[in-house]
Parts: sequence; C-alpha cells; structure tokens
Amino acid sequence: MLLANRLLFTSIFLSPSSSSPSLKPQPLTLTFANPTHAKPTRHVSSASKTIPIMEKDRSVLFVPPGVDPDEVTPDMVLPGSNIVIGPYAGDAKIKEVVFVKSSSRAKDCPKHDRPEFAILGRSNVGKSSLINALVKKKDVALTSKKPGKTKLINHFLVNKSWYFVDLPGYGFAKAPEAARMDWSAFTKGFFLNRDNLVAVLLLVDASVPPQRIDLDCANWLGRNNIPMTFVFTKCDKMKGGKGKRPDENLRDFKQFIAENYKQHPPWIMTSSVTGLGRDELLLHMSQLRNYWDQ
Ligand code: GDP
Repeated sequence: MLLANRLLFTSIFLSPSSSSPSLKPQPLTLTFANPTHAKPTRHVSSASKTIPIMEKDRSVLFVPPGVDPDEVTPDMVLPGSNIVIGPYAGDAKIKEVVFVKSSSRAKDCPKHDRPEFAILGRSNVGKSSLINALVKKKDVALTSKKPGKTKLINHFLVNKSWYFVDLPGYGFAKAPEAARMDWSAFTKGFFLNRDNLVAVLLLVDASVPPQRIDLDCANWLGRNNIPMTFVFTKCDKMKGGKGKRPDENLRDFKQFIAENYKQHPPWIMTSSVTGLGRDELLLHMSQLRNYWDQ
C-alpha cells in the first residue's frame, strides 16, 4: 500500500478542534443542485469554467487528489454532497460481490492486500438497506444480520479487487452507556491496524436530529486519523413526521462538521428507497480507491 496516499487523505479529514461539539443549529449558506434530479457530471465544460464558486463555499468542499481547489467549478461537485470529482474517478460499477469471511478480531481479517471501505453506523441507521442498494442485491447484507454475525467484521470482495467491510452497528437504544460504545473496543483493532482501509463510511440517519453517539464516533475516528465519509441515510423522508425535517437535521450536522473540522470530510446524501446518492457514492469511492491503488 502507498502509505503516503492514506496519509494524504487523513490530513484532509482530520482536525476536530474540540472534543465536545456544539449542536447549536445555525444555517449553512452552501447549497448545491437539487440532488433528487441532478446527475453527476464528470467532465468540466468550458462554459462552466466561467461560473465561480464563492470562497466560503469552496472552503467546505472535499477536494480530492489531482484537483486544484482554485480550479473547482460547480459541475465538478457531486449533487447532494460536498464532494468534488477528480481525475481518479471511474470504474465505479459493482459487477460482482462475494462474501469472504466473518472475523471476530482484526488479526483474523483477510490479508491487507486490497483497498477496503468499512461501513459503520448506529443500528437501524439503514446500513443493510444501503449495502443492498449499493450492490443492487436484496440479500447481501443479510449475511451480517444472521444470528451470531451481527458482532463480527464481515468482509465482502467486490469485483475481485476491493473489500467492502460491514462492521457491527453501535448504539442499541436500550443498552447501557458503556455497552453502547463497546463497538470501539471490538472494532478498535480493526480501525487502527488495517493500513489498507481507504475510508470509513459513517452512516448518519438524516431523519432524526444529530445523535451524540454519532458525533462521538466521528470525533473518535477523527482523533485517530481514520479517513471518513459521512453518508446521510433516509434522505427521502424530506417532509412530514414529527420534529425536524431531514434537511434541517442535515444542516445541524453540517454545522457540527464546520465547527469541528478545519477541512471538511466528504459528506453525501443517500436514500435506499429512491436510489438517491447511490451512483454518486460509488463514484466517490472509486476515486478514493483508484488513487489509493495506483
Ligand atoms: P440497519 O439496522 O442499520 O441495517 O438498518 P436497516 O437497513 O435494517 O433499516 C432500518 C429501517 O430503516 C428499516 O425499517 C428500513 O426499511 C428503513 N430504511 C432504511 N433505509 C431507508 C431509506 O433510505 N429511506 C427510508 N424511508 N427508510 C429506510
């Protein structure tokens, strides 16, 4: 593995400036194209080069390797995200997924010979649904829902070339506080010892207000230099229900990011019901993976 590549990503993500994030909601001014309708554009047209991005907006973008931040134009930003698409994006399609193994310890996991993405979030965040949506199969994530496998690290091999790693959900509602963060004791070894870990996809339920346990998890990953992408789930629930709407919850969470990270980690809106963000997330993963894998 090119360790330098991992470090480059990490240095972009890290810098939580405080261990006790404020949840005070304040509006962020950045808005992108309507994610429900827009499609990602990979090529910069000459016309778009004339459209400027405001400096304050530019500062919240995730700019990948190979892209000059000053050269970013709006059509390089994936809809419903802060992610700029650069020259390493491509080959994003999932053609084949094979369950490899379940491991109870990091040292039992498959060899560090391929890039991998870990997927993590509170139970009920929509992890299984998202995995199934990404791979376009109904039963892939069932493996990790089988009794006895929910507390294991489950490796899937995609296209014979990279791993998708399903980690145990955290934050069971009724568990006592100590047990709720127990995932870190279990998965700590995984995060700290997998130098082929390209990024953690940290799933955050956009249909509820930001949860302390998600913020704690994000800060733990940040403090430990683990690259992460915030994946907001259930973004189809944009209307109705009690409490705040997902766009307001998202705004609050982005405020947390703004207050706690000097450079913004990537974030993206998804829905397993409508397919929102699916192709975009895979494209984002492809550029991280291809850069890592070069
Ligand atoms: P997990 O425990 O994190 O694996 O969560 P699941 O994938 O089992 O989903 C938990 C619940 O949320 C289920 O009732 C799903 O139908 C629902 N859900 C998951 N993803 C979405 C989504 O994108 N939109 C909506 N509206 N509901 C979802």
